[in-house]
Amino acid sequence: LKGGATKDIPFARAESTTRVYAVASGKGGVGKSTVTVNLAAALAARGLTVGVLDADIYGFSVPRMLGVTGRPTRVGDMILPPIAHGVRVISVGMFVDGNTPVVWRGPMLHRALQQFLADVYWTDLDVLLMDLPPGTGDVAISTAQLLPTAELLVVTTPQDAAAEVAERAGAISLQTRQKIVGVVENMSPMTLPDGTVLDLFGSGGGERVAASLSRSTGTTVPLLGQIPLDTTLRAAGDAGAPLVLQSPDSPAALALQKVADTL
Ligand code: ADP
Repeated sequence: LKGGATKDIPFARAESTTRVYAVASGKGGVGKSTVTVNLAAALAARGLTVGVLDADIYGFSVPRMLGVTGRPTRVGDMILPPIAHGVRVISVGMFVDGNTPVVWRGPMLHRALQQFLADVYWTDLDVLLMDLPPGTGDVAISTAQLLPTAELLVVTTPQDAAAEVAERAGAISLQTRQKIVGVVENMSPMTLPDGTVLDLFGSGGGERVAASLSRSTGTTVPLLGQIPLDTTLRAAGDAGAPLVLQSPDSPAALALQKVADTL
């Protein structure tokens, strides 16, 4: 990643038909990346041309979750994104050596994001999913500046503490004037084989965030789905194979596909 972006961003053109979703969360570890890669794989499996831009520059995990190990190829001044499980994917993780941390300040982040949007040969995408870092920092602001038409998809857990922070992450749209497409609750109560319900992270966070964002934006922000806790979802992520493809009938995969239906 050298130099600055020189080209314009195809998704920002007025005639662009690509739907861009910026997947946001208040806190880390709520499953934002897991939701992003599974939605991408589900949409690609339906025949759509889908890209994932891993904008979680410091905490990138998309390459592992999609099982991408190689580096992108360069063709002239363009970067060809690897395709994994039918999804075109780019991440800063593909440009660093080993597990080196990325230590960048705001302007570098902005330039990297600009390059990922303008210098990557995405082709004509139907959908671009951007995995934002948690919170309301530089990348969220840059995304809003570079792609004002990107819609926010807010991921939260059912827990009150997480929901409260997610409300703030969503409320950034009041300043950036971005639309919020909806809320996804992840790590929701799971039903054990004996029928008991395990609500490790409580319940109600998704409803709460959707209601709060509906109030603050004066629009209807729907709760698009509740993805239950599921060890197979975690294992599939670790193995680099999205659960929606590996085990499409599992409860978490069914819930993720329901969310994909709404996008
Ligand atoms: P974030 O992107 O918000 O930091 P991740 O997607 O990396 O979160 O998820 C954090 C961890 O939780 C990962 O190990 C992931 O596999 C696991 N995980 C995510 N969603 C679920 C779920 N519904 N059930 C079980 N484990 C999950």
